[in-house]
Amino acid sequence: MAPKQPERQPIGLTVDIEDWYHSVLGMPPEEWDRQPDRVVETTETLLQVLADADAHGTFFTLGHVAERHPELVRRIADAGHEIACHGYAHRLVHKLTPEQFKADLERGLEALDKAGAGKIRGYRAAYWSITRSAAWALDILAEAGIEYDSSIYPTETPLYGIPDAPLDPFLLRTPKGAEIIEFPPTVMQFPLRNVPVAGGIYLRLLPYPLVRAALRRLLGKGRAALVYIHPPEFDPDKPRIPMPLGERLLHYTRLDAMRVKVPRLLADFRCAPLGEILDRHHPRETLPAWSVVR
Ligand SMILES: [Zn+2]
Repeated sequence: MAPKQPERQPIGLTVDIEDWYHSVLGMPPEEWDRQPDRVVETTETLLQVLADADAHGTFFTLGHVAERHPELVRRIADAGHEIACHGYAHRLVHKLTPEQFKADLERGLEALDKAGAGKIRGYRAAYWSITRSAAWALDILAEAGIEYDSSIYPTETPLYGIPDAPLDPFLLRTPKGAEIIEFPPTVMQFPLRNVPVAGGIYLRLLPYPLVRAALRRLLGKGRAALVYIHPPEFDPDKPRIPMPLGERLLHYTRLDAMRVKVPRLLADFRCAPLGEILDRHHPRETLPAWSVVR
């Protein structure tokens, strides 16, 4: 008898709901109110793209956006997507104290609750910024009742990454010995490093056939895959403000690409929210355990 093929699972489709200015590293939150607000319009564009493909995903929504636009949170939920938490003020977790992180998480969850988001299972940190030095944050997430996290990038960059973290969903043992499910973004494995392929700047820059081949190979082996996008990446006309060259490239390179690549991706692959994929394909009791403490 031929060996049984592993069942192909959908891609975990994730969207970080934030406005264009939230991810500008040099802009303090005091200046946010003076910026033109574009998140509703760009999220509506993205929701339409997903509706056209009958695709659903997890929307990690920033508390600041939920507070200003509670009706947008309800629109997303009514369209059948999973709402999850992206914190409140889009700060780098590894630059916060545990007390500051806890306050930001609670404020983010409260804003989602007030907007009518319902039960929140998942969390993603701004800029994937739960690094090993900020692993204490995972205990705070577990204590707050967060069931799964998607903040650890299994690669290495100056801003984020835990390069030796597992590449498929796993049960992460926190520094205090609690457990939280981790769903990592997709990377391609090379001998010297793991290379991100399936979201943000990487998805904008890489040729789509290469991304598709990488995702097909993973799914064909019964492995998990996770793609992430941001509404400002669907907004080629977003405001341009002075910022360091590296950051400018990150924010403005190939902003025309997502409107082409995401519909192709949705046509080529089945996509689903992370909570649904975890329940169906990676039940908690089957997950391999991994300790973040070395
Ligand atoms: Zn973000």
